[in-house]
Amino acid sequence: TMITNHMPTAELQALDAAHHLHPFTHGHDLNKKGVRVITRANGVTLTDSDGNEMLDAMAGLWCVNLGYGRDELAEAAARQMKELPYYNTFFQTTHVPAIALSEKIASLTPYDLNHTFFASSGSEANDTNIRLVRTYWAEKGQPERKIIISRMNAYHGSSMGSASLGGMVPMHEQGDMPIENIHHIGQPHWYAEGGDMDPEEFGLMRARELEEKIEELGPEKVAAFIGEPIQGAGGVIIPPKSYWPEIQRICDKYGILLIADEVICGFGRTGDWFASESFGIKPHIMTIAKGLSSGYAPIGGSVVCDEVADVLNGCEFSHGYTYSGHPVSCAVALENLRILDEEGIVERAGKETAPYLKGKWEALADHPLVGEAKIQGLMGSIALTPHKESRAAFAADKGTAGLICREHCFANGLVMRHVGDRMVISPPLVITKDEVDMLADRAWKALDLAH
Ligand code: PLP
Repeated sequence: TMITNHMPTAELQALDAAHHLHPFTHGHDLNKKGVRVITRANGVTLTDSDGNEMLDAMAGLWCVNLGYGRDELAEAAARQMKELPYYNTFFQTTHVPAIALSEKIASLTPYDLNHTFFASSGSEANDTNIRLVRTYWAEKGQPERKIIISRMNAYHGSSMGSASLGGMVPMHEQGDMPIENIHHIGQPHWYAEGGDMDPEEFGLMRARELEEKIEELGPEKVAAFIGEPIQGAGGVIIPPKSYWPEIQRICDKYGILLIADEVICGFGRTGDWFASESFGIKPHIMTIAKGLSSGYAPIGGSVVCDEVADVLNGCEFSHGYTYSGHPVSCAVALENLRILDEEGIVERAGKETAPYLKGKWEALADHPLVGEAKIQGLMGSIALTPHKESRAAFAADKGTAGLICREHCFANGLVMRHVGDRMVISPPLVITKDEVDMLADRAWKALDLAH
């Protein structure tokens, strides 16, 4: 039988449960409730197999920055597939899409981040970073510098290396992680962990854990620090202003490499092209993916500064993926960046949409169920609480309030994600003011129903 969009939803769900193993999904839920079958999308709107329309306030998985349905990207892919569907970039070979995209990335990224090593995803790019920074130090005559320091509740991907960099304990428990020479410090999550402390003091304290950790492990053994400028999958945790300058100071003091994981934050999400600019971070290496192609084709990369590139080019870096710089993904990404740039989408999102959304989003803090509502650019979170003053969490065994709220969102035409008792959004950058109003109204309604 032909499996198509026109099949009844129940049949599609049964076939899916029979043959498809899902990422980050409890198999039990598949059989009990059935999956949502998404059939098409346009702009910020998803349609499911029953014809329901939903506002996608998550831009897929934080990636469809350009919004759905841009034919130019489909055409760029088709053109490239006909001309050169595949060739590799190994062994002294290259092709025009990889040249053009690496040049475009260099022109958009700040400072002297001018050199891109391509991968197909953020996970692969962060795996690349682990080997890249260790190779860099070995080439500099300091092979003992192997340790990478990250944060608890960080998310850097799902491969063994990138999940080890991440600080998600349930992930570490499945598969014997972290791998060796990766250490974690506390996260700058004032709302959940700051108690009575002043948020800025707390931010400084958490940053100084980096210095303590470096001293504890031995400064001569530390290769790099990695962090998301704003933690995304951890619950959209916007750090206190004091945090990043102190992290930068400590990295500079000890001469260790600073990796900004901009997989979510990059390409306009925080209101600037890159969050490193928003926070004044000067990374040696930037991880990119997601918004690079607006999710239309899989691609990621590590963008490195001139000095790191010089050192790496002094040896053969024995690392690469068949699809490093895949020509079709590069062509799609290039077209995506061209549109984001030439149509002024990043600029408009930062200057017009973000302030408007901020007003609507922060007003959700008035809801009795909401302990805080925070947003930067087009990346926001609310914390659900039974008790605003104490910032208490809901008891985990009651089925999280977040999960309940998410289900009410779905039923009311809004896709939000929950991370425990935090609800998060990351809508396409092209969302209009009318759609922002719709988002806020539906979120309030879902909160009422969950209350
Ligand atoms: N880094 C960050 C900050 C992410 O949010 C993600 C994915 O959500 C990744 C890395 C991993 O990217 P991918 O899922 O493309 O492997």
